Amino acid sequence: MEGGRWIVSLSGRHGDPPPGDLEGFIAFARTLRKPTIYEAIKTAKPLGDIVRYNFPASVWRHFDRLDRFPGGLIPLGDSVCRFNPVFGQGMSVAAIEAVTLGRLLGSRAARSDPLDGLAAEYLAGTQQCLEAPWATAISDFVYPQTRGERPADFEKRLQYGAALARLAA
Ligand SMILES: Cc1cc2nc3c(=O)[nH]c(=O)nc-3n(C[C@H](O)[C@H](O)[C@H](O)COP(=O)(O)OP(=O)(O)OC[C@H]3O[C@@H](n4cnc5c(N)ncnc54)[C@H](O)[C@@H]3O)c2cc1C
Repeated sequence: MEGGRWIVSLSGRHGDPPPGDLEGFIAFARTLRKPTIYEAIKTAKPLGDIVRYNFPASVWRHFDRLDRFPGGLIPLGDSVCRFNPVFGQGMSVAAIEAVTLGRLLGSRAARSDPLDGLAAEYLAGTQQCLEAPWATAISDFVYPQTRGERPADFEKRLQYGAALARLAA
């Protein structure tokens, strides 16, 4: 970041949480496969406390599949689909949904009842933007303890993801 500062997020899954004290946090960084992060932070001066956050599950609520949806209500962001924050996607998705909603409202402004049927059109129009981030989030199935609807082609997806990661490394 600016001013030679760093923000570091460390994560663990299924009972492997990074410690909340500085010493433990740095020791946790040392257990990573590559020493890059550890080397970067081992002598750094902390500017604030370590903040911990527990996330139970990625969830996609298919409101679009409901036959009826309450008028005057529009679900956005995490209330529709929340992703494991490790993948850093939720804000981007919420922003895309907000832009879609803004466009829809603009296109309906001249109607006598601009809100009539808005939720159905908005929900149908925002499902596609959830697919790519969801496909990333479900890589949590790589852990055998992860529960949920494992995609039938998960192993194939995993091979592709692993090949990409090797290339990136
Ligand atoms: C640790 C962490 C790191 C993340 N990193 C990234 C990242 O790098 N990139 C990215 O794109 N996304 C990231 N995300 C995800 C992102 O923060 C969320 O997807 C996004 O904030 C969702 O926005 P939202 O408006 O749907 O919900 P929120 O931001 O959760 O907003 C909901 C608001 O409603 C309020 N609220 C709740 N209940 C009530 C009530 N009953 N009455 C009134 N108010 C209420 C809450 O206090 C909150 O302010 C991260 C999330 C976490 C937890």
